[in-house]
Amino acid sequence: MSGAASRVAILGSTGSIGVSTLDVLSRHSDRFSVFALTANNNVQKLLAQCLIHRPRYAVLGSAAAAAELAQALRTKCVATEVLSGPKALDDIASHSEVDVVMAAIVGAAGLEPTLAAARTGKRILLANKEALVMSGPLFMQAVAAGGAQLLPIDSEHNAIFQCLPQQATSGTCTGRAVAGVRKIMLTASGGPFLRASAESLQAVTPEQACAHPRWSMGRKISVDSATLMNKGLELIEACLLFGVSESQIEIVIHPQSVVHSMVEYLDGSVLAQLGNPDMRTPIAHALGCPDRLVSGVESLDLVRVGRLDFESPDVERFPAIKLARAAAQAGGTAPTVLNAANEVAVEAFLSGQLAFTEITALIDRVMQAHTVGAIGALTEVLAADAWARERAQALM
Ligand code: NAD
Ligand code: MG
Repeated sequence: MSGAASRVAILGSTGSIGVSTLDVLSRHSDRFSVFALTANNNVQKLLAQCLIHRPRYAVLGSAAAAAELAQALRTKCVATEVLSGPKALDDIASHSEVDVVMAAIVGAAGLEPTLAAARTGKRILLANKEALVMSGPLFMQAVAAGGAQLLPIDSEHNAIFQCLPQQATSGTCTGRAVAGVRKIMLTASGGPFLRASAESLQAVTPEQACAHPRWSMGRKISVDSATLMNKGLELIEACLLFGVSESQIEIVIHPQSVVHSMVEYLDGSVLAQLGNPDMRTPIAHALGCPDRLVSGVESLDLVRVGRLDFESPDVERFPAIKLARAAAQAGGTAPTVLNAANEVAVEAFLSGQLAFTEITALIDRVMQAHTVGAIGALTEVLAADAWARERAQALM
């Protein structure tokens, strides 16, 4: 990265990751300029971000929301051009002047713009794990074919990337196995219900599920963390990014969330990446790589942390891990269906239509009803996704 500042597009700038990304970028205005910001429907928050960061483009989900933002920007004499709809997201992600795309939309809605960034060879900072999980090999092929750089933002995968010097040196996740790796230890905080009894889980409310003990995140990933489906999705994500099999990944509960994951080599060496639980660290790493950038994250005080605990997850109370392992083993459309059924179930839980323990039960039933197919083209991914959503709705 030399000369002019890199132009960054943030897909999902009003979310938790989007806000942390802007925080890091604002510390490095010499290296980065904000080219585009996007949100689904939060006009006020996107307006506030536009007033500060003055992007060339802003994108909202609907034409009505876009018109409201454009009007507000005109009265403030801000020249940001406002666009709307999914096609505008694709256009921004693949815009010839964009260098870096932060993929921070939640869920399947982020797939197509992230693929557009891959095909056009951007540096992709991938927070939107659902996009990768649902399209698997197709996504990795698009990255390779487009000559894109793929850097993980998920704290665990960013940690693993940093613990795989061969991948880190190439500056991208290749999806190919690194020689000498025996296993990956994917850490999990355990979420808010780590010690809750199976019976008490039945009555959990959305507010309780969204109150994560270590991380402040969007509502969907907070529920995923509470069911441990987040760790299930991350298991599939790790298989794809690092070319390992599901059986090479051990999930380890680590309530302090200080060790963000580990790689064990054949000689018994274990490399770990540590830090305070703050997403600005992986964001700054991926933005700056191979340079190191100031992120605003406090120095790790291990004496204050005092102890680091590790234990095995209880897959009976948290069956999401078993479901994700089965989907990873089956491959093809199985992860697509797992992801789509989970999105429907989480949405239903958040709107009070489904009990907490019914989330994984519903996903299980959708997966049982699915005949796994191969993924050759985007149409197959979208068809499997749509099938799973319909089936999940019907089973509810
Ligand atoms: P969030 O809910 O806080 O933000 C989501 C963003 O996506 C918002 O800007 C929203 O406007 C936008 N969005 C939502 N639906 C959209 C749609 N249909 N079309 C266009 N834009 C849409 O979520 P988050 O916590 O920031 O998470 C974003 C992604 O990053 C998720 O995939 C999540 O799994 C991943 N991630 C988040 C964290 C974290 O700490 N928050 C950590 C690791 C990975
Ligand atoms: Mg994570």
